[in-house]
Amino acid sequence: MEAVVTAIRVALPVPLRQHFDYLLPANMQVQIGCRVRVPFGKRELIGIVWQLDVTPEVAAEQLKPVLAVIDQTAVLPKLLRQLLSFAADYYHHPLGEVLTAALPALLREGRELSAYQPTSYRLTAEGAAAKLSDFSRSPKQAALWQALSEQALSETTLKTQFSSNTLKQLIDKGLITRFQTTPEPYQFQGLAEPALQLTADQALAVTALNQAQGSFKSFLLEGVTGSGKTEVYLQCIAPLLQAGKQVLVLLPEIGLTPQTLSRFAQRFQAPILVWHSNLSDGERLQCWLQAASGAAAVIIGTRSALFLPFRQLGLIIIDEEHDLSLKQQDGFRYHARDLAIKRAALEICPILLGSATPSLESLYNCQQGRFIHLQLTARASGQALPKVELIDLKQQVLQYGLAQQTLQQMQQQLQAGKQVMLFLNRRGFAPALSCQECGWLTECQRCSAFTTYHKHSRQLVCHHCGATRAVPRQCGGCGSPRLAPVGQGTEQLEEHLTTLFPDIPVTRLDRDSTRRKGAFASLLSEIEQAGPRLILGTQMLAKGHHFPFVTLVVIVDVDGALYSADFRAPEQLGQLLTQVAGRAGRGHDKGKVLLQTQHPEHALLQDIILNGYAAFARSALLERQQTFLPPCQHLALFRAEAHQSEPCQQLLQQLATFCQQYPSVQLLGPLLSPLERKAGKYRWQLHLYAKHRPQLHQLLSALLIEIPKWPLSRKIKWQLDVDALDL
Ligand code: ADP
Ligand code: ZN
Ligand code: ZN
Repeated sequence: MEAVVTAIRVALPVPLRQHFDYLLPANMQVQIGCRVRVPFGKRELIGIVWQLDVTPEVAAEQLKPVLAVIDQTAVLPKLLRQLLSFAADYYHHPLGEVLTAALPALLREGRELSAYQPTSYRLTAEGAAAKLSDFSRSPKQAALWQALSEQALSETTLKTQFSSNTLKQLIDKGLITRFQTTPEPYQFQGLAEPALQLTADQALAVTALNQAQGSFKSFLLEGVTGSGKTEVYLQCIAPLLQAGKQVLVLLPEIGLTPQTLSRFAQRFQAPILVWHSNLSDGERLQCWLQAASGAAAVIIGTRSALFLPFRQLGLIIIDEEHDLSLKQQDGFRYHARDLAIKRAALEICPILLGSATPSLESLYNCQQGRFIHLQLTARASGQALPKVELIDLKQQVLQYGLAQQTLQQMQQQLQAGKQVMLFLNRRGFAPALSCQECGWLTECQRCSAFTTYHKHSRQLVCHHCGATRAVPRQCGGCGSPRLAPVGQGTEQLEEHLTTLFPDIPVTRLDRDSTRRKGAFASLLSEIEQAGPRLILGTQMLAKGHHFPFVTLVVIVDVDGALYSADFRAPEQLGQLLTQVAGRAGRGHDKGKVLLQTQHPEHALLQDIILNGYAAFARSALLERQQTFLPPCQHLALFRAEAHQSEPCQQLLQQLATFCQQYPSVQLLGPLLSPLERKAGKYRWQLHLYAKHRPQLHQLLSALLIEIPKWPLSRKIKWQLDVDALDL
């Protein structure tokens, strides 16, 4: 008689586009979504059971057996498996890498989950039979025994009253025992502070969301800076917590989590957890388990929080939905907003995208009737939006890059005890050092870029590849010792501001000043104190923080962004300017913005400033429609990089030739990337545009089967980026 062979399909954390089937030994039982340990080449790997009873793709004799089953019940529920499968298909990315991005490290390593469940204590049978008089010589043991005679108690509770020593003594006597519990779903304890009286616009938005409870609908909340979007979020969440549902709040940046967490914790008496890259592996797994058990009411997290399991998800909110950081920029290049929409569809719950400067993608979705468009057109405080004044820098004598009018207005505000914010999107002291004799500039040896001079750390740093070296004493061209900084970065501006305003404290916010753990939070708390202050920084300032005392915003220099080749540059500049400007006048005092430029007549600046972001974005969208660009067309991008330039071009040319079989897909390229060389490698791109997504995806599926057959594809690193944002 022939033995019945059971094969299962396992998703493994390896970057390969193929299935992995294993034999399930007769003495093992397993469910879909559980982890298993399997042999893989010479190694062993932990994988997730994806399918049972498969017809293996190889002969049964060649199948290797599963070594061990780790979980009794699925760690990856069905809905998450569907989401991950969808993501792997949509981004044409190996499922294994999708899995790696989605699962906490400790789960991937095969740790037993029970070790991470909360520990409790209860009496043993012997303990239950004991009498109080048995403990006459130890009042502490008596108290512990008494407490546990009433009910089992969690370790956290016990540790507040009893020492581990007392616990150990009773364990050693065999009177009490430890056991693991599953966390219970949270209990909502109500509001910790009263909700605000909503404005009419806010009330409309909250009602629309309430009515969508229990159904899948996407909303875009377009609300000018300071219009009270956060209050809308809070009031949409309250009834869900009342109903015992969970809420996921996605933010583009880890830096935004503390402020958001504190506003949410002030409002709700319910467990609110954060999820971001600075958590330890243990903390991540805890968060994962609390989401899964329903113990967490709200989770505030960055991108990958979208892969957390939830027991009863009632709403997803994405704040600053336009922010590019929501897209993963390497490896598995997913967009958290787009996958979150899929997640909401699977969960059958509404999703709310909020921004003062919505992406053209989301505005387009509103136009197409896929999203419901909610708008908050005025500031909640009734305060007017800040006025923007263009300062023409031509033929002006500048002091440290600042015009006389700018300095006067700064002086006025500071004297009145207000805060002034300066935006300069270049960190470091200067973008390069230059030779005063021959014009030589410090360049990165591995990138087609200059190296930034960091005075404080006395280094030249390449902001593209991270390479650092000591500041040279002499020019690399003529040997002259006369090297001087060209241009201005935040470090230099800070130095100059201290000279110009010696009595005013200066707070600098950029990647360098916030590198140390906790630095960001402490700088923010400086800013939240009243009193005159100069705040300067990079695009970090544009990230939705609430700076209550800023009355004047100075945009020192944006001219570089006016002439970019990227078709998204105008949109991004519009968002940046509007967000930075929006930091002014958020408190009681009126705000003003000064925008310094050499090109005050530039159409883009005029459009953004005269018409505001909302009108500007709509005309920009029309232009994308007319020029057949995303979001009106779908874009997929192939990148190739290698130490030599030609083979990259050749590989992409080969791709382009293959694509010609699909006339519905238009090609652009192969082209050199805007940054031609990075970390020693040349970079090329091929853009694929299509009117309809299925046509594009059909081509991609066919192509991905072909590419590995080409010898060149094994020598050159290539990647596919679906819905690429950074060109
Ligand atoms: P946004 O997130 O849109 O930038 P916020 O939610 O931070 O705006 O709100 C800006 C300010 O307005 C906050 O200080 C907030 O407390 C206040 N605010 C919001 N809604 C109201 C309201 N309905 N009534 C009074 N103040 C409000
Ligand atoms: Zn020189
Ligand atoms: Zn470099």
